Amino acid sequence: MFVLLKEGISEAQLKEVVDSAEAAGAAEVCVTKTGTRPMLRVRGGSSQQQTRFERLPGVERVLQTDGPWVLAGRTFQPENSIVHVGRAAFGSQRVEIVGGPCAVESLDQLREVAESVARSGARVLRGGAFKPRTSPYAFQGLGERGLELLRTVADEFGLAVVTEVMAPEQAELVARYADMLQIGSRSVQNFPLLEAAARTGKPVMLKRGMMSEIDELLASAEYILLRGNAQVVLCERGLRGFDRQTRNVLDVVAVPLLKLLTHLPVIVDPSHATGRSELVIPAALAAVAAGADGLLVEVHEHPEAALSDGRQALNAAEFADLIAKAAAVATAVSRSA
Ligand code: PEP
Ligand code: MN
Repeated sequence: MFVLLKEGISEAQLKEVVDSAEAAGAAEVCVTKTGTRPMLRVRGGSSQQQTRFERLPGVERVLQTDGPWVLAGRTFQPENSIVHVGRAAFGSQRVEIVGGPCAVESLDQLREVAESVARSGARVLRGGAFKPRTSPYAFQGLGERGLELLRTVADEFGLAVVTEVMAPEQAELVARYADMLQIGSRSVQNFPLLEAAARTGKPVMLKRGMMSEIDELLASAEYILLRGNAQVVLCERGLRGFDRQTRNVLDVVAVPLLKLLTHLPVIVDPSHATGRSELVIPAALAAVAAGADGLLVEVHEHPEAALSDGRQALNAAEFADLIAKAAAVATAVSRSA
């Protein structure tokens, strides 16, 4: 049972509601926030209890539900959420573009890319410091040194930083340097990690797993929302298919579907979705046409020399081309980029 509290509820009123929940023998009482409104989740709850809650002065509405995700849905919050990350506003009218290398490799590499990213008008820099690699022999990232480089270089160019956190015990460290924490596809159901990321209070970009159902993705987002962190951005990055020509299969319809189901912003990663630089721009344009709130794109000044994912990286000129074309498509669907 979810109890939606009135905006501006007083401390005394809140205490009254929480006390009634506890008196009703609720096994779990959890106050969280979606948008600006506090909510109370009460485990169980009979229809008599529902009526009792509805009569309390601080309560606006009570919903009986046992679905896997509620806070992520539009029942309590019909309007779109906007997640602010530096100067970027995910979920706003503007299609926000995040650009940067797969992995932070060196100061010079990052500075070169960041300069192109900033020059082309993007507002957020990406780059992995902790890299989830299939093989333990592959480049694993620079770790904390990579985080330092991201912060220094992003500040130099007035960009915000998004970077991946792989383990719950890394969350505080990554949050000291990043403006948004990325939960990678392989971690989408690492529930302790979701909770640790939520607790940092920083916005969280949650990537859909290569095998995630939409309901599973939303249930993972629910873990973060239920911990009181409402700043979640979802990212579609392709599903594993049978055809080896592309790395993954971009589920472009996931974008309008998610926008129907959830108030959370939805962005698309056309780089991991395709795995081939020549397919990144068409995939990105399809995503913007489908209503994506943003794009996450891998960029490298010298893709052939990249330590990871060079095959799918755009160079600076291609990235500038992507932004110009995305802006044209955004205009066609009454957005801007
Ligand atoms: C990434 O964006 O750096 C990444 C590893 O992507 P994914 O988790 O989608 O594979
Ligand atoms: Mn990558």
